[in-house]
Amino acid sequence: MRPFTYERATSPADASAKAASIPGARFIAGGTNLLDLMKLQIETPAHLIDVNGLGLDKIEETPDGGLRVGALVRNTDLAADMRVRRHYAVLSRALVAGASGQLRNVATTAGNLLQRTRCPYFYDPNQPCNKRQPGSGCSAIGGVSRQLGVVGTSEACIATHPSDMAVAMRVLDATVETVRPGGATRAIPIAELHRLPGDTPHVETSLERGELITAVTLPKPVGGAQLYHKVRDRASYAFALVSVAAIVQPDGTGRVALGGVAPKPWRVEAAEAHMKQGAKAVTAGLLADARPTDDNRFKVRLAERTLAAVLAEARG
Ligand SMILES: Cc1cc2nc3c(=O)[nH]c(=O)nc-3n(C[C@H](O)[C@H](O)[C@H](O)COP(=O)(O)OP(=O)(O)OC[C@H]3O[C@@H](n4cnc5c(N)ncnc54)[C@H](O)[C@@H]3O)c2cc1C
Ligand code: SF4
Repeated sequence: MRPFTYERATSPADASAKAASIPGARFIAGGTNLLDLMKLQIETPAHLIDVNGLGLDKIEETPDGGLRVGALVRNTDLAADMRVRRHYAVLSRALVAGASGQLRNVATTAGNLLQRTRCPYFYDPNQPCNKRQPGSGCSAIGGVSRQLGVVGTSEACIATHPSDMAVAMRVLDATVETVRPGGATRAIPIAELHRLPGDTPHVETSLERGELITAVTLPKPVGGAQLYHKVRDRASYAFALVSVAAIVQPDGTGRVALGGVAPKPWRVEAAEAHMKQGAKAVTAGLLADARPTDDNRFKVRLAERTLAAVLAEARG
């Protein structure tokens, strides 16, 4: 690990201003992703700004009947909150499908959204990787790509976003609240938080330098059967090959987002018009632009079958 300096931020605005002005500064929350990357020297921040003491760890009801989840709320606490379990069950289910109990006790809402890909070549400094070292090439294209993306990918990068929680937040139409270095705040629809790789896969989000996530707001509950199915190579401690977050209403309409297939939680609203026709029709719309590799072609069929299982369960 390279030497670095450390400080505790005193307010969200202070954290944001310092992160923007100090070269090589990064926020640290639970540290479960960032510290691993630092140990491997994949990330080498010169200065860490600890945002744990900023009071951003509350879950509060909003005036319009939604829920505001502080950026520092731990994954365990969010999954266990009775309001979340009752009204946003897809979120609670996605959270408990992720990582392990110990990790969820430490991992935070913002850190989970901003965790980096699990592409094996990204974690191997001896291999070219456009995301780790822009312009060096992509080892996964033509390499081992079983775990990687089938849609939303590019000639420069086929990595997936690893978060389970983000897939549920996408289907719930969450909004990410931030404070910018000048002190101004903004609200970003979760659909616009993560960027597709294009030819700049190292630019992963729409956040500007130093912008701090302060909360994630969930709109008022939409009801329905809310399910999250995650298919993975082992029952625990594994990232999704494919996951499905779905909200299915009694009349058969609903919403669907996929995880494990794209560089961001993958939702195509137009595909949801086919909900009553079943999984095949919805998946055809969701993955119409899929460009799988020979290694991961199975994910297209797996997504359809996983969605079929979700719809069957939702309809009882
Ligand atoms: C063995 C293992 C298995 C795992 N399995 C899964 C899994 O199955 N599913 C899953 O979804 N996840 C899984 N994870 C990932 C885990 O959920 C993430 O590491 C965790 O959610 C990150 O949260 P954190 O608070 O520790 O983030 P940190 O490591 O502290 O930060 C992550 C990133 O977010 C930035 N950041 C943190 N807070 C803010 C903020 N408020 N504003 C702006 N930037 C911020 C940091 O600068 C950093 O870049 C696994 C992790 C491990 C180690
Ligand atoms: S898929 Fe993306 S993260 Fe993986 S090696 Fe290629 S550029 Fe790097």
